[in-house]
Amino acid sequence: MSNPRPRKRFGQNFLHDQHVLDRIVAAAELQETDRVLEIGPGPGALTTRLLATGLPVLAVEIDRDLAKALEERNDLNLEVKTGDVLRFNWSELLTQPPYKLIANLPYNISSQILFKVLEHRNAFSCLVLMFQKEVGERLIATEGSRNYGILSVLMQTWFHLERVIKVPPGAFFPPPKVDSVVLRMVPLSKPRVDVHDEALYRKLVKSAFAQRRKTVRNSLLGSGWQAEQIDQAFDVTEIDPGRRGETLTIEEFGALANLLCSINREDGLS
Ligand code: SAM
Repeated sequence: MSNPRPRKRFGQNFLHDQHVLDRIVAAAELQETDRVLEIGPGPGALTTRLLATGLPVLAVEIDRDLAKALEERNDLNLEVKTGDVLRFNWSELLTQPPYKLIANLPYNISSQILFKVLEHRNAFSCLVLMFQKEVGERLIATEGSRNYGILSVLMQTWFHLERVIKVPPGAFFPPPKVDSVVLRMVPLSKPRVDVHDEALYRKLVKSAFAQRRKTVRNSLLGSGWQAEQIDQAFDVTEIDPGRRGETLTIEEFGALANLLCSINREDGLS
């Protein structure tokens, strides 16, 4: 299929800029033993580059026509799975970890994909991903910035993030209405915080940003946390409950979450 008509509902903006394709592949620093996961290969401009390295590529594409065209290449190194990547069971999909996830993501589901990546982070040795610029900026934002949010905290807890290249709309067909950015993310050898209960940590971070204009204490209360428990946690960690969630460092989120975790355990015992 040389000239597929892009389908808007699948977020299809096909990358044709050779320099950007080169930079994406270079950023992945592919080694002989690597395996690649590509989400949304589309007509396969990036896939072709990845296969040229001789490495195995697992590609998941929702568009049946594009997936079929890729299968018809009969490339032994290419395994194509057809369907919505969010509906796959990732434990069954990622049978030979670790993978390098390299993709020009469909922007409408990029956050959901990152939550999946976080859940299965041990299956990845590197991520090189294209995002809408605003989303990319949020991911690399640090405390105190307006862009700092749930995914900045969660991704930076376990990954080192860096910008690879900014990408203008003209690099795609059809050109999107927004600028884009490619980020490289590598798992940290030691996470920023040793999280004792990941579900609680995620819930705490989400609650702290639920009402960004309120104090972190009020934002947590609004999300159903118990005043007595959170006040004890603020007290012991010496974090001012009058601050806004967006000013808390990852280490502070970690300290609060671990304290709430031990308070929960004590309450469970009593
Ligand atoms: N990789 C190609 C390129 O760089 O030109 C296409 C990128 S395009 C921005 C996003 C691709 O993701 C499209 O091929 C689209 O069909 C596919 N896609 C969209 N939603 C998807 C989903 N839920 N699961 C798997 N693929 C999806």
